[in-house]
Amino acid sequence: MSRHHHRRSTCRLCGGTHLTMVLGLAPTPPANAFVPAADLDKPQERFPLDLFFCHDCAHVQLLDVVDPRVLFENYVYVSGTSPVFVRHFQAYADDVIARFRVPAGSLVVDVGSNDGTLLSCFAKAGMRVQGIDPARDIAADATARGIPTIADFFTPALAAQIRTAKGAAKVVTANNVFAHVDDLTGVVDGIRAVLDDDGVFVFEVSYLVDVFEKTLFDTIYHEHLAYHSVQPLIRFLAANGMELIEALRVDSHGGSLRGVAQLQGGPHPVGQSVADAVALERRLGLDKAETFLDFARDIDERKRQLGDLLRGLKACGKRIAGFGAPAKATTLLYHFDLGPDIIDFIIDDSPLKQGLFTPGMHIPVLPGSAIAEKKPDYLVVLAWNFAQPIMEKNAGFREAGGKFIVPLPQVEVV
Ligand SMILES: [Zn+2]
Repeated sequence: MSRHHHRRSTCRLCGGTHLTMVLGLAPTPPANAFVPAADLDKPQERFPLDLFFCHDCAHVQLLDVVDPRVLFENYVYVSGTSPVFVRHFQAYADDVIARFRVPAGSLVVDVGSNDGTLLSCFAKAGMRVQGIDPARDIAADATARGIPTIADFFTPALAAQIRTAKGAAKVVTANNVFAHVDDLTGVVDGIRAVLDDDGVFVFEVSYLVDVFEKTLFDTIYHEHLAYHSVQPLIRFLAANGMELIEALRVDSHGGSLRGVAQLQGGPHPVGQSVADAVALERRLGLDKAETFLDFARDIDERKRQLGDLLRGLKACGKRIAGFGAPAKATTLLYHFDLGPDIIDFIIDDSPLKQGLFTPGMHIPVLPGSAIAEKKPDYLVVLAWNFAQPIMEKNAGFREAGGKFIVPLPQVEVV
């Protein structure tokens, strides 16, 4: 136990104490803690990465909580840099406005608003907007670009201030925040404090169904404390004065759940999507610990396959690099034990990451031009959920004789 981390003893959603560890991943530093060259000699603390199942409500979660200041202060992920996310957010805003007939001029509050991409889509549709994000630089940038953003953590007190200053919100959104925050009750208290009586709270989280079905185990890292499914959320929201009215599957982050909730007694009917999601989760056995123990065995089998392949290639003198340095690559590299002895460098298209080194293992992150300069024989697609577009965009690498290795959901050499 360090001063930057604690392990809770109760379920984050129901407060229950009957928790079983179902998947023990290799301990890692914070997945986004990329390191500049000047800091390479500073040790990086690693934290346990163990997944637990709650026998009382079936919520799947990490109990080890790393201090959010350690996790988020130097966050390098900026959503607006990716055109895929911009399109996703435009469709998201349009859908919410149409589905709930949100009148122009309504206040939309985004909790964890990042660079303001989602809010700019709402603003384009004539809404008033307010962002909240603890990353100071990103919040200041967003404000400078016309999306007012408070650089702070979302609390009931801050929610009350916003309501006093700007009125009640017709829409509150929170994307991934619901997976990121340890004190979810506090978040919901804040949402109730700012939400109008007929308003909706819309949240996106990576969906446990997708994590399970598509082997997205590398989306498990310390920022993601909770791996949500619908059944435990219904109970949690009801215990906190809210009602889940939609549970929609969307394809962001390899498969996510877009939940919509209203204040208890609100005007919207509960959609069929909620019952459908619960039925699907039961069919997959997500309400049983054994399901996740099997999942853990599957992941270890993938680890063995990929490790055998890469160590074999390395033994033949092949040069191997990685493609894509998303946060989840940290979990994959650590759990699959792929260090700088195997991966020489990693290509990433984000200028924010180029020139930095991966968390803990310190593999250098380079721009795409390094492929032609260093001519690796193999590129392991670490951002494997984007394997297809990455391989298309870098077709020249294959034409020059290079091969891609897609590590998941099945190990594939292309
Ligand atoms: Zn629980």
